[in-house]
Amino acid sequence: ADTALPFASGLAWRNGFAALGPRFSTALRPTPLPAPYWVGTSPQVAALLGLPAGWQDAPGALDAFTGSRSIAGAAPLASVYSGHQFGVWAGQLGDGRAILLGETSGGWEVQLKGSGRTPYSRMGDGRAVLRSSIREFLASEAMHALGIPTTRALCVTGSDAPVRREEVETAAVVARVAPSFIRFGHFEHFAATGRVDELRTLADYVIDRYYPACRSGGRFAGNAYAALLEAVGERTAALVAQWQAVGFCHGVMNTDNMSILGLTIDYGPFQFMDGFDPGHICNHSDTQGRYAFSQQPQVAYWNLFCLAQALLPLVGEEETALAALAAYRSAFPAAFEARMRAKLGLADEARPGDGALADATLRLLAGERTDYTIFWRRLSRHVAGAPVEDVRDLFLDRAAFDTWMLSYQERLSQVDKALAADLMCKTNPKFVLRNHLGEQAIRSAREHRDFGELQTLQRLLATPYDEHPGHDAHAGFPPDWASSIEISCSS
Ligand code: AMP
Ligand code: MG
Ligand code: MG
Repeated sequence: ADTALPFASGLAWRNGFAALGPRFSTALRPTPLPAPYWVGTSPQVAALLGLPAGWQDAPGALDAFTGSRSIAGAAPLASVYSGHQFGVWAGQLGDGRAILLGETSGGWEVQLKGSGRTPYSRMGDGRAVLRSSIREFLASEAMHALGIPTTRALCVTGSDAPVRREEVETAAVVARVAPSFIRFGHFEHFAATGRVDELRTLADYVIDRYYPACRSGGRFAGNAYAALLEAVGERTAALVAQWQAVGFCHGVMNTDNMSILGLTIDYGPFQFMDGFDPGHICNHSDTQGRYAFSQQPQVAYWNLFCLAQALLPLVGEEETALAALAAYRSAFPAAFEARMRAKLGLADEARPGDGALADATLRLLAGERTDYTIFWRRLSRHVAGAPVEDVRDLFLDRAAFDTWMLSYQERLSQVDKALAADLMCKTNPKFVLRNHLGEQAIRSAREHRDFGELQTLQRLLATPYDEHPGHDAHAGFPPDWASSIEISCSS
């Protein structure tokens, strides 16, 4: 029986998704892990949920977030979804290793990833390894601090229980937090099996809870489902524009990894790019480069098209669905240009040449695979008063840089310099979760159960636009070994 855990006594549970019933999920509990230990916790997410100070030290907290004790009032379940993986219909997938504990009265769903097998595990073991769980934990919070929509992470717990991947590793559980974990694939699931009633129930739930404006007015007045498709397209456009601007490669943009809320979800082989390469493929398993960095905006559209097809029985006319999808096609370039203008410090009204200037900047960086984060940060510091040499030194082809710089300075001269510098330093982060940084934190966690580096990263990435004097090593060029890190779908 569920005993009330003191740390959770202030939480009330609403469990909206569970209330949709057994056609959408299977009620079940996590499978306990032996001898659990804390790896990391996020005070910011604890505050979101309304957990009391010192919650992680309260009796039962560690067990609860490792899945060994249940929390009274939560209604744990695994949900069913389907999806397209690498462009191919994959049929039924579902929460194979994530168990939704429940939804708090504040509207936050809490999910344990790596908490054991479910009816949707297929050949999988239901587990996640420490390595990938640390990456997901750090990345979720880093993305949020960058201002990019994402699922959050409350904590990571570990256990010595062995987990077999390419080699034997150990188990870990990430407690993820989001308003909803519903994916495009949830809709595809019911559409593919011809269950229009369930499809409608799910769409109505999403609209009522997360997109209430779709019921009133707008371009698709009277067709809330078309309005939903349009709204999801707009959120996805805003999301992917932010990924492209910050140099984030998702790595596995399958339709089951696309959030209906436009959140970054499923941190697997993701990467913050080091040297700028539009063709960069961060997922070692993506041999064709389907999810290469420059492909992401187009893949998002392809995924939205799958969502549109799934929603078609509700939307009605194909023409209406296409009209709703068109929102993405205009919203993405607008959102991307706005992001790039901010990176360039163009704090004034958009001007006709701004898009071309942004393109020229990216071409310049691609020419020499210039370090993406360092370039933008140094440019920001230059506009704030540091010598231009700091930026110029990044390029072998000085003439190409000088030509670009001339056109940039011409445009920048039309902007208030102090406003530009301020905007740039708040838009171009000094700290991002590069692969080698994550790797260092993972190594000391795995080898010595030392979480000092993880905590340092957590702290720097929580305010990535601050200077953090004394931590320039975390903002420097990647070491040579960074390019040999291979991150695959194995997690
Ligand atoms: P992903 O590639 O992470 O998006 O996962 C695709 C599907 O595989 C989802 O249905 C996951 O739940 C499932 N899956 C991935 N890893 C495992 C695992 N170790 N055990 C069970 N299911 C898994
Ligand atoms: Mg997934
Ligand atoms: Mg995954």
